[in-house]
Amino acid sequence: MRIYLDNAATTPLDPRVLDYMLPLMKDNFGNPSSIHHHGRQCKAIIEESRKKIANSLRSSIGEIFFTSSATEANNLIIQAAVRDLGVTKIISTPIEHHCVLHTIEHIVAQQRGVESAFLSVDESGQINMEELDQLLASSEVKCLVCIMHVNNEIGTISNVKSISEICEKHNALFQCDAVQALGKYDIDLSQTKISFLSGSAHKFYGPKGVGFVYINSDNQIKPLIHGGAQERNMRAGTENTYGIAGIGKALELCLEDMQKNRQHITFIRSHLIEKLKSQFDGVKIISPETDGHYCILNVAFPKSDKTDMIMFNLDILGISASAGSACSSGVEQASHVLRAIGLSAGYQAIRFSFSHHNTKEEIDFLVEKLKGIL
Ligand code: PLP
Repeated sequence: MRIYLDNAATTPLDPRVLDYMLPLMKDNFGNPSSIHHHGRQCKAIIEESRKKIANSLRSSIGEIFFTSSATEANNLIIQAAVRDLGVTKIISTPIEHHCVLHTIEHIVAQQRGVESAFLSVDESGQINMEELDQLLASSEVKCLVCIMHVNNEIGTISNVKSISEICEKHNALFQCDAVQALGKYDIDLSQTKISFLSGSAHKFYGPKGVGFVYINSDNQIKPLIHGGAQERNMRAGTENTYGIAGIGKALELCLEDMQKNRQHITFIRSHLIEKLKSQFDGVKIISPETDGHYCILNVAFPKSDKTDMIMFNLDILGISASAGSACSSGVEQASHVLRAIGLSAGYQAIRFSFSHHNTKEEIDFLVEKLKGIL
């Protein structure tokens, strides 16, 4: 038996998305920028996908731009906000994805006069809204607030609506990394004022190598990658037509199946929590248990010689999970997220992240294997 419990790192491609992409890959090879028949066909595929993403977010079609990844989208937003929109202060949290944190670090180091500030987070990864309000109130410069919708390691869900209201009150821009939330929750941009939002297809059963950025039409920014006029001059480079077709289809299907999948995954997650609590002394549930993301469960076991090789042993026994985010899972030290929420060095954390493909039997198998290891 081989069990995949690392769906926050990436998800398998939905076969229906593959079925949608395959004929296009065979027949629609044109360059979307060509004005002849072959080019126009591909352009239409791209625009159809843009429409699906915009409809799902209740945004305008003109506010969606395709990128190679959410990493690229986040780089574009942060760098362009400073360069084009007069931002000189970036307010964020210590538990953002590295593609946000490292971009902020880079821009502060490179650009004289740009500063950053990081809000504190509590042990569940939540920011304090009053701290954000006060920080913005005391900032006399243009601010960009970068706060993720759902944390990828522990599944904390931010109160995006309240954050957006505070940002609006202080005339600050709000960038929301929605990578882990898209396809799992309904995001309605007509109800919540967000300046920028990023997403990535491979986190919701779409293909790898394609993402998008929503740029609210109030904010006119320039591209990061220069060249042709693709993506209405926002992102040069011949479009990944098939990937773009796949991202729209994947999001559409996820939203159609959302309620059913949510119910199933919530059950799987609760079943694992129950088994861990009843069968493992000292286990610590790190993720917010009831109001965290239903697809993510981060737990920790008191460190011992048995936990030293736990990830390796789980892998040998047929279980793919993660010690933190995929990018840092080879690293021994607790991740930046776990350190920021104050997890004691005496614990070994494991992130299990679920999909609708997981079954109760798989969870029971996992628990048996964990018992064997520990
Ligand atoms: N933001 C979050 C919260 C993520 O979980 C990830 C991927 O792990 C990214 C950004 C980066 O996405 P991509 O793989 O599309 O670059």
